[in-house]
Amino acid sequence: MTVEQNEYVATLPMLLTEVEVLEVERVSPSFVRVVLGGGALAELGPDGPVYDQRIKLIFPNAAGSLPSFAGADESWWTTWIEIPEHERGSMRTYTIRDVVGEGTETRLVVDIVVHESDPADGHGDALDGAGNRWALQAAPGQRLVTLAPRKGHEFGGIEWSPGAASRLLLVGDETAVPAIRGVLRDLPADATGAAFVEIPVDADAQDFVAPAGVTVTWLPRNGGARGEELHAAVLAHLTGTVPTEAVVVSDDEIDPDLWETPVHSSSGEEVAAETAVPTGDAPYAGLYAWIAGESKVVTGLRRKLVNDLGLDRRQVAFMGYWREGVSMRS
Ligand SMILES: Cc1cc2nc3c(=O)[nH]c(=O)nc-3n(C[C@H](O)[C@H](O)[C@H](O)COP(=O)(O)OP(=O)(O)OC[C@H]3O[C@@H](n4cnc5c(N)ncnc54)[C@H](O)[C@@H]3O)c2cc1C
Repeated sequence: MTVEQNEYVATLPMLLTEVEVLEVERVSPSFVRVVLGGGALAELGPDGPVYDQRIKLIFPNAAGSLPSFAGADESWWTTWIEIPEHERGSMRTYTIRDVVGEGTETRLVVDIVVHESDPADGHGDALDGAGNRWALQAAPGQRLVTLAPRKGHEFGGIEWSPGAASRLLLVGDETAVPAIRGVLRDLPADATGAAFVEIPVDADAQDFVAPAGVTVTWLPRNGGARGEELHAAVLAHLTGTVPTEAVVVSDDEIDPDLWETPVHSSSGEEVAAETAVPTGDAPYAGLYAWIAGESKVVTGLRRKLVNDLGLDRRQVAFMGYWREGVSMRS
């Protein structure tokens, strides 16, 4: 199928372009998979493995219109953010699940987590989320804007950086499923480690292709508390002992922009130039851990792993992908 060429003009070192929805599938209770196409995707990066490559999607405004980025230059962000919020559409962060095909037939595949609004949460419809709302009504023929890596240009947005680690730990909730899947798919065949993935219900488990030496454990909440089993499973994996108490994190301990990786600190901690996995007798020598999901859950894991177990911040990436009760709007 040839998708109508759009207004994309290659003046930027990344793709900032309209794409057309070609396929939509509710693959399980909590995931809507969308396949996006458009002539400009012929230039879709990254140049190497995709791993946890993040992108942005801009969803249409309430009137169904998308902003135009025709001829946009480096000032596109300032221009866009100055448009009143109800007009400019809504930007959210997602992960490339797959890049399929090539040339102008290249397809960008994204898995969007959907959650029905909970009348008990006290937020009302206003916080249902633009991405969530869009995914629940998505249909072929609709259009979005994507901000994504362009071949041959630096874009950033891949956090996976295990350096010389000899064992790997991946931990995440449903929003991190595409990223964990991508990392496992792109790892060398002799990689060793473990992945723990929390999902809303059993039926949300997916088939992952992973190296034989990496175990994948699915942890469906099935109505249970967010993060509880995940914490227990990760701590049992690291210490050999199942914790007897749940980690308690108060709301004011949570950074809604939580992003503590070896090379970036949202709280302003000192960072190194690169990942440096401790060797020798250091606690957890050789381990690299990548942890993403709801910020409160990730904060609790960080406290345990760094403060209590003594993992070095240069061997762990903790990423708040979203925050319960907070809209991630730009
Ligand atoms: C690097 C990165 C990669 C990401 N990759 C993906 C991805 O591939 N797929 C994906 O689905 N998400 C992904 N996310 C998370 C996604 O950006 C957030 O969930 C975002 O809040 C969704 O926007 P929204 O418009 O639906 O909700 P928002 O407007 O941000 O929030 C509205 C309300 O919905 C709640 N909410 C948001 N997300 C969820 C959720 N998952 N479950 C329950 N309630 C929620 C919020 O707490 C808030 O109360 C990623 C985030 C980052 C930072």
